[in-house]
Amino acid sequence: MTRVLVTGATGFIASHVILQLLERGYQVRGTARSADKAKRLNQALSDYAGKPIEIELVRLDLTSDDGWAEAMGGVDYVQHIASPFPPDVPRTADDLIVPARDGALRALKSAKAAGVKRVVLTSSVAAVDNGWGDQGPAAFDETCWTKLDGGNPVSFYAQSKYWAERAAWDYVAGAGDGLELAVINPVGVFGPLITSDVSTSVGLLVQGLSGKIPAFPRIHQGVVDVRDVARAHIEAMERPEAAGERFIVCERSLWMSEIGRILASAYPDRKIPTRDMPSWLARLLGVFNPSLRFILPNLDRQRVYHTGHAELVLGMDFITAEDALLASAEGLVRMGKA
Ligand code: NDP
Repeated sequence: MTRVLVTGATGFIASHVILQLLERGYQVRGTARSADKAKRLNQALSDYAGKPIEIELVRLDLTSDDGWAEAMGGVDYVQHIASPFPPDVPRTADDLIVPARDGALRALKSAKAAGVKRVVLTSSVAAVDNGWGDQGPAAFDETCWTKLDGGNPVSFYAQSKYWAERAAWDYVAGAGDGLELAVINPVGVFGPLITSDVSTSVGLLVQGLSGKIPAFPRIHQGVVDVRDVARAHIEAMERPEAAGERFIVCERSLWMSEIGRILASAYPDRKIPTRDMPSWLARLLGVFNPSLRFILPNLDRQRVYHTGHAELVLGMDFITAEDALLASAEGLVRMGKA
């Protein structure tokens, strides 16, 4: 049986990748750094799938060499999904860059040493579209890279995704020659929740659903369903022509106020904001709020993505943004998170 190692198994995207791998008949080994979360994962997977699921789980941390060689034993493919994606801005950029970049290198080096066929790495459009200022293309594609030296602020998270993906490509072009790499660059990921942890992207909906903000900052947000992101990861692992490629996955981009209107139509009894916050006000609030400050460069900026590459090479078609958003909202409401 073909064995796949999934890092960060307890995460939002990884839990869907695991379920789809099992559906396709793969044997899955997951990695987790928290024993407590690992313990709850098999139960959450079983509840979601409506049948008993018990995958093997091993302990790994992106910041330590311990356990990688053992985790790769007998593994044919690696889905390297783990990377820090916190809701708050950490103290320094290195708090995110070091685990993201060094963790990706640990995954690749240990995969190469174990004779793994291919690694699929979860990057992000944050490694594609940040720091362009007014110079961005009408639509971003896989040839685009985040500009760290363009004089525009780039969030710590985007820096971490940039350096992790760069390090991965540099490694397979050099010492890691022979190891195949494919990269998935998702936009904001929504869709059904398997575990009760709220990922940072799904968390974007919480304040709106709870009516805690009067309006949304005028941010254009790419939306993709987690089930499609998982499918793209597996197609990128299986299809020979996906090796050496990056793939943007996105259904479409919506202004946050449009997202508000989708939520409001499904939850008419809630006070969900449906209007744009004036951008001067968002800029003023950004002076006091570091999380907001990092999104200010994206205020009023259309962010549109070409998805033809994923459609052509991976055979993707996409669940609608409405379905993705409403599936997340349903999960948040059912679990009492919003
Ligand atoms: P989650 O926070 O749900 O998953 C992140 C996973 O990474 C968790 O399992 C987490 O473990 C693990 N992790 C973080 N730091 C470490 C560490 N030091 N050592 C070991 N494991 C670690 O987020 P998502 O599922 O949303 O994100 C998964 C991947 O997808 C990330 O690479 C993210 O950058 C990327 N991505 C996500 C998007 C989105 O909108 N959700 C969009 C584009 C890319 P623990 O649970 O213990 O914290």
